[in-house]
Amino acid sequence: MTSARRIDTYLRELVDEDRFAFFEAVADFAKERVAPRLLALERAHELVPEDMIREMGEMGLFGLPIATEHDGQGGGQLELVLMGIALSYWSQSVAITPGAATSLGSKPLMLFGNETQKRAHLPDLARGRRMFVFGLSEPGRGSDAANPEVVARRDGTGWRLSGEKCWSTNARWASHVVVHALTDAAGRRGHRSTCFLVPMNAPGVSYAEMGGKSVWRLSSTGSIAFADVRVEEDQVLGEVNDGFKVMATTLNGGRLFVAALAVGSLAFALDRVSSYAMEREQFDGKPIGRFQRVQDVVVDLDIALEESLTWLLHLVKLYDQGRLPREQAAKVKIAISSRASRLMLDAMEICGGVACLDEFGLMRHHDDLFVTRVGEGSNRALRTQIAQDLMPGIRNILQ
Ligand SMILES: Cc1cc2nc3c(=O)[nH]c(=O)nc-3n(C[C@H](O)[C@H](O)[C@H](O)COP(=O)(O)OP(=O)(O)OC[C@H]3O[C@@H](n4cnc5c(N)ncnc54)[C@H](O)[C@@H]3O)c2cc1C
Repeated sequence: MTSARRIDTYLRELVDEDRFAFFEAVADFAKERVAPRLLALERAHELVPEDMIREMGEMGLFGLPIATEHDGQGGGQLELVLMGIALSYWSQSVAITPGAATSLGSKPLMLFGNETQKRAHLPDLARGRRMFVFGLSEPGRGSDAANPEVVARRDGTGWRLSGEKCWSTNARWASHVVVHALTDAAGRRGHRSTCFLVPMNAPGVSYAEMGGKSVWRLSSTGSIAFADVRVEEDQVLGEVNDGFKVMATTLNGGRLFVAALAVGSLAFALDRVSSYAMEREQFDGKPIGRFQRVQDVVVDLDIALEESLTWLLHLVKLYDQGRLPREQAAKVKIAISSRASRLMLDAMEICGGVACLDEFGLMRHHDDLFVTRVGEGSNRALRTQIAQDLMPGIRNILQ
């Protein structure tokens, strides 16, 4: 595979020199420190190794959007997305580890935490010494996340939490989980729940890794159970009965990050396929890249990459300026993840049988792209939000 990345050509024109240098530094780390270990880790059914997490922590990747006053890097969504693309070029699993830790884990605290909570956690989160998990999804509540079955009942000055969260990314390494729980069953839709910051080692909290997952293979995905867990008032994150706002607001940035993962996969596929099409010879000892039907796919990948990257970075800029409508974040995730998944199959097809091999690298991206279609809001369910924006009379059942 050639070492030149096509994405660099586009990115160089879209971001300033410092941001491009940052992207290259993370991309070099991924190529030198992550890529050579991927196959062995996957074949051994292991998760992202702790030394790799530590190294990413030392690079500051867990603190990218955290303010410098809280020991972070003082960046924004742009830095997060550039990190996401650079790491997911090789592995979405590795990218989502600091990705979920920041864009889903520390983000709710950054957006809704009070100063005491921020001071208590953000410096350790920024250094990767602590990790928060985003506890929204439950066995019985996926798209209908505004109505959690996990419940927090008043108990004197505090609360008692019961129920189960699942699909919790990074649960294996988490210090705390941001739990979205029902606190007012009779409240208005979207105003029935509250978020709580719960230590993973609190009495009554238990975690189990979800088995049998064949996407994001190196990423930890846990189920977290709460058996009558005591939480105090100072563990409430944001306002009581406004917990869904905390989660939904966080997801806007999260969806931009998920779109970045799909861009990383697209970028890898384009480079992989264009170099293979020049290496592989069939009929008269000439490369398959001379066939127009092979060229069509390479060009489709290239167009998709340039369009996706340009659109995504435009929306990231709006997000960092605090003026991105939430429908836009949903739209870009839907569009890029669906297009990248479809094109990944075409990319594999024009490479032939070799694409089935794990060492070829495309199958990993094919599998991982599935998560970008359902994660942080299933693409089909999210269309409801966009439809409501287009036709304001339609009631948005997702809130
Ligand atoms: C690897 C992985 C990691 C994840 N990490 C996290 C995490 O860290 N934290 C977390 O909280 N969650 C996480 N999730 C959960 C993820 O956000 C949910 O899977 C997603 O929200 C969809 O929920 P569901 O899978 O229960 O699907 P369901 O809600 O059961 O929906 C199934 C399907 O029904 C259809 N559907 C449902 N509702 C509608 C609607 N309103 N309109 C149209 N069609 C609809 C869609 O086709 C949808 O795909 C993760 C998921 C995966 C796979």
